[in-house]
Amino acid sequence: MELKVLNSGSKANGYVLQNDTEAIVIECGCPVSDCLQAVNFQSSKIVACLVSHEHGDHAKHIEKYMEYMPVYCSKGTAEAITYKSKRRPTVLRCFQKLVAGNFVIQTFDTQHDSAEPFGFVIEHPEIGKLLFATDTYYIKYKFDNLTNVMIECNYDKDILNENVYNGLLHPVVQERTIRSHMEIDTTIKTLKDNDASHLNQVVLLHLSGNNASPEEFQKRVSLAIGKCVSVAHKGLNLIVNKTPF
Ligand SMILES: [Zn+2]
Repeated sequence: MELKVLNSGSKANGYVLQNDTEAIVIECGCPVSDCLQAVNFQSSKIVACLVSHEHGDHAKHIEKYMEYMPVYCSKGTAEAITYKSKRRPTVLRCFQKLVAGNFVIQTFDTQHDSAEPFGFVIEHPEIGKLLFATDTYYIKYKFDNLTNVMIECNYDKDILNENVYNGLLHPVVQERTIRSHMEIDTTIKTLKDNDASHLNQVVLLHLSGNNASPEEFQKRVSLAIGKCVSVAHKGLNLIVNKTPF
């Protein structure tokens, strides 16, 4: 299975997991044309699009996506979005299992300043068990047998404090960041707290433009957990399988 990162961060988020016959999309923060291009314009192979929450960088283009694929999110997210057309996303409950093609998706609640944000555990015979969690300052659940993890690693508290001290960041924004996004030490602790015996790789998501350092974050996390770690950025392609090779 291939992972294509359409974008990751506070501007726009979009991820596509696909093989030759089926694809799943996560987030609709990028123009739908980027998503369609990623699947080589075979939109019929997209079995689901999962949306974590209503913020624009994750859901801005939801109406366009609904024209091409089935879109799923929580009730809170669906109700928090303003629509121009009559089309609506399909609502999933927390811990509900969704079967889409050969993918089995389970939702769980995350911790963010939005209506009803979700994370997703995505299982597929090729991938194994993949955890997707973004825009959450921590994760209150533990997961076993994870093979791949896509997790937020938004900021480093030292960089954040330094930016406030130097007048580059307003303290109100600092407060909001702390209460809604994941700090690198929390990302590391989350990875360590989960069963890593089958873990092949970790993809760090949604790094802050000003309060993070991609190279340093990659090094710090891979050193801490001893696994292959990548930082998601626009255009990144990775192989995401059950076994490392
Ligand atoms: Zn958000």
